[in-house]
Amino acid sequence: MDCDVLIVGGGLVGSSLACALDAIGLQTWLIEAAPTRRIERSWDERHFVLTRTSIEALDRLGVWPLARREAEAVRAVHVTGVGDFGSVRLAASEYGLEAFGATLPARVLGEALAARVAARTYIRVEAGRLIGLEIGGDAVRATIDADGTTRTLMTRLVVGADGTDSAVRRIHGIDVERIDYGQTAIVSVLATGRRHAGIAHERMTAHGPFALLPLADDRAGVVWAMPTAEAERHLALDDAAFLAAAQQLFGYRLGRFARIGRRQPWPLVRQMATRLVAPRAVLVGNAAQTIHPVGAQGFNLGLRDAVALATRLAASGGDPGAVDLLADYAAARTADRERTIAWTETLLRGFARTGAIGRLARSVALLGLDAQAALKRDLAFVLMGHREGLDATALPNLKVA
Ligand SMILES: Cc1cc2nc3c(=O)[nH]c(=O)nc-3n(C[C@H](O)[C@H](O)[C@H](O)COP(=O)(O)OP(=O)(O)OC[C@H]3O[C@@H](n4cnc5c(N)ncnc54)[C@H](O)[C@@H]3O)c2cc1C
Repeated sequence: MDCDVLIVGGGLVGSSLACALDAIGLQTWLIEAAPTRRIERSWDERHFVLTRTSIEALDRLGVWPLARREAEAVRAVHVTGVGDFGSVRLAASEYGLEAFGATLPARVLGEALAARVAARTYIRVEAGRLIGLEIGGDAVRATIDADGTTRTLMTRLVVGADGTDSAVRRIHGIDVERIDYGQTAIVSVLATGRRHAGIAHERMTAHGPFALLPLADDRAGVVWAMPTAEAERHLALDDAAFLAAAQQLFGYRLGRFARIGRRQPWPLVRQMATRLVAPRAVLVGNAAQTIHPVGAQGFNLGLRDAVALATRLAASGGDPGAVDLLADYAAARTADRERTIAWTETLLRGFARTGAIGRLARSVALLGLDAQAALKRDLAFVLMGHREGLDATALPNLKVA
């Protein structure tokens, strides 16, 4: 046996899981098809919103101390609709908290994870692409292509952390439910004329959401989703015209927009695996579910997959590919997946309706939501990443003092 666990994919979720398994002391291989591009991620212009639960988990894994310098607290969330009179305002202070979570450049998160993985004890990291799996009685033979050279290795459990086009999922014949939104998100950073005061803004339009995330130094992270043809047109605009279009949509709550960074397109799909496990295999992160970024939940959800799997592997101490362990993982992840996806789709669908009646319905819904403490609390829990039965403190604590 070459290892206990083979993680296929060294993206943000696969690397997080590797940190957790290293702490548990499981002999693990991590293979990544595009190591320099993915693990360093210097090309990535996105800023993530991380929930409190995610920050707690990353802290225990020793990742957060390496990244926190570039984090900015999210103290409030304002959701408004273009042309509507209603709005939802959530303040962390209403829940006795300083912040719901924090924003962090995806690049910084990737670098912090790569630094933790580099300081590993039990993880072997290799460049390579998984191309085949053969399941025997108590082991799996994985075939890996490394620059034209094929090698095989034996493991007890294969984790598909290999993203939306997961090879692990495909090889196991796990179906997906896929919706192509026909949308692309333009991601960038702009300078604002007024301080953001830690408020994340989500401005909903009939064509897609526009988010402005609080960043350090009076800057805001832009995530602007729109139909792909519109996105191509907006990407071709010069900086001044792009800023004017963003300003017209958002208004002047944050003063006059100035200076825009590099604009980067991200095509958007929703894709759900119909099963999370197969014999000696399990899916985590985008391989399990790829969701629209409107609720800022994709990585948060994927990290909760990794925490749920790692805590089960730590508690079992036996065969990591045991049928009951994998079934327990799949059952434990169902409610969180369904709830997070339902919430994301509600945000999207509620605002896709056009026309006066649609606008009125949205305004009533927003005003109603603002008035109902219980619903707001539910929304706040999503923002904080609160999930029953998920306990980051069950992870080994690798925090550097
Ligand atoms: C515009 C945008 C904004 C977002 N904002 C947020 C946010 O604010 N908060 C949040 O929580 N989430 C956010 N997300 C979601 C988040 O980016 C993803 O959920 C997360 O990055 C998924 O990570 P992953 O490791 O599962 O997948 P990936 O990042 O896709 O990584 C998969 C890895 O597997 C490798 N791989 C693929 N096939 C193979 C193979 N056969 N063999 C070996 N390796 C392979 C790939 O090279 C890749 O490195 C956003 C997404 C977008 C598009």
